[in-house]
Amino acid sequence: MGHERLENNKTIQILRAASKGKYGIPAPLAFNIEHILGFVKAAERKRSPLIIQLFPWAITWSDGLLVHAAAHAARNATVPIAVHLDHCQEESMVKRAAELPFDSIMVDMSHHSKAENLAKTKQWVAYCHARGKATEAEPGRIEGGEDGIADTVDLSGVMTTQEEAQQFVESGVDILAPAFGNVHGEYGPRGIVLDWDRLATVQKITSAGDVHLALHGVLFFSEELTRNLIEAGITKINLNRDTLVDYYDHLKKNVGKIPFTQLLEEAVEVLAEATGKQMDIALSTGKA
Ligand SMILES: [Zn+2]
Repeated sequence: MGHERLENNKTIQILRAASKGKYGIPAPLAFNIEHILGFVKAAERKRSPLIIQLFPWAITWSDGLLVHAAAHAARNATVPIAVHLDHCQEESMVKRAAELPFDSIMVDMSHHSKAENLAKTKQWVAYCHARGKATEAEPGRIEGGEDGIADTVDLSGVMTTQEEAQQFVESGVDILAPAFGNVHGEYGPRGIVLDWDRLATVQKITSAGDVHLALHGVLFFSEELTRNLIEAGITKINLNRDTLVDYYDHLKKNVGKIPFTQLLEEAVEVLAEATGKQMDIALSTGKA
């Protein structure tokens, strides 16, 4: 196979070290400046590598400002931090994002048919690589939706097949987000039912192709489950509510009751605490 990797790319460097060291990298989503501050504070405190994620929503909403803020924070940090665009589903947005200081972009064409998903992934992977950006893609389709990626809410999930994993590895993509029973948002009454055999099959293919595995659909997973997933080869752990829930609670309880500056400082501290816990769970603490 032997795809040329972007050797100086920060996302790839961080994930490669994690693969070797058998630990995971928390990749929490940031929606504002406080989130960026809290995540970076946690990474420095825990001496953990980190991937800060943003949705395309953040680009549109802030006119790119949040990406620059995250990249600035990452550059100035004393630990390795990469900035990643999660679920970029619009092709015009891939173009826009490629001009912003992201280290990596998820070119998510999974809302198209299988054949189109592969063809478009190949095309945008090449486009991003030419601009120094590493890439993530999703063969199959992860079930469910999330605030900020509402596009896929009414499409059903399709598990990643062995053939697709192989084709996507050959597309040159750097990170693969497999669908193996993981769900965006709520898991519902069935609970968390993961297809471990499927994950093992995909992992064999990706590790042979020097491609990293991203876990989407983490929602209050037990420490044991997350550790088992890392053991099974997951390195990038996408986080949303797990890191943010205490922060939201803190805002709810205290807004209007304490000075705003104090509210912000405390909220960032609460967030750093929660993010630090995820670093302990992912075993990335002390690895920077
Ligand atoms: Zn996702």
